[in-house]
Amino acid sequence: MSDQYVLEPLVVGRFPAFPLAKFLYGLDSSEKIEAPCISWLARSTTTNLLVLVDTGPAVPTKETSQFHVGLDVRDEHRIDRVLVSHGIDPTEITHVVFTHLHFDHCSYAEHLPNARLLVQRSELRYAVSPEAEHRTGYETGFRNVIPSWMKAFDKIEAIEGDTEVAPGFQILALPGHTPGSSGAIFDTKVGRHAIVGDLVNQVENWEGNGGNHIPPTLNCGIEECHKSFKRLEKEADVVLASHDYRMLDSSRYGL
Ligand SMILES: [Zn+2]
Repeated sequence: MSDQYVLEPLVVGRFPAFPLAKFLYGLDSSEKIEAPCISWLARSTTTNLLVLVDTGPAVPTKETSQFHVGLDVRDEHRIDRVLVSHGIDPTEITHVVFTHLHFDHCSYAEHLPNARLLVQRSELRYAVSPEAEHRTGYETGFRNVIPSWMKAFDKIEAIEGDTEVAPGFQILALPGHTPGSSGAIFDTKVGRHAIVGDLVNQVENWEGNGGNHIPPTLNCGIEECHKSFKRLEKEADVVLASHDYRMLDSSRYGL
């Protein structure tokens, strides 16, 4: 049995002036761009599966606002409220895939009461005790700060490597941006679409220049990134970006 999905980008926060060089490894530029945080909704065309890939950042607190300068997240960006504004009942979400557990990808899943929350075991392991320079990215190890994903800990399921969740809906292990990064791959009417978190922040990370993909500047290994890009070349027809307003040029993908 096969299935096909239709994908929709949802804006769940934004960085008003983000240094482009932090997205594109090796870029010599001081340019700053406005960058959205995108959560992707994937709807099965034949079953009741309704999947979110990533859930966005939380409204900063007194403590976390020191970590993330220039982050604009308001109450209306909360994933369950964004869903309601798009006419979707948050209780109908069946699955969430966390591409990774950085602060801007995994908040408010506790407001999706019926969803299974899927994340690589290796990412869970790393997120509870990251290297010192990655602690603010995970919001881990600070007094009075509970990392967002831990607020939904009771519903989190660890997965191990590549996992077929349902026909036409697969999770691939794609380490590189972080040790346990994943991509969610959906079959659609017009080819396999991949949502791969911050391995592809901007369209240019995938399209590159001169045919070479460009790793994200924040990474756990350039070689790992290139291996994951190679896998994606085989496994996906379309690769979608996580922090790029050009994704909103279409309101639906896969049609
Ligand atoms: Zn990230």
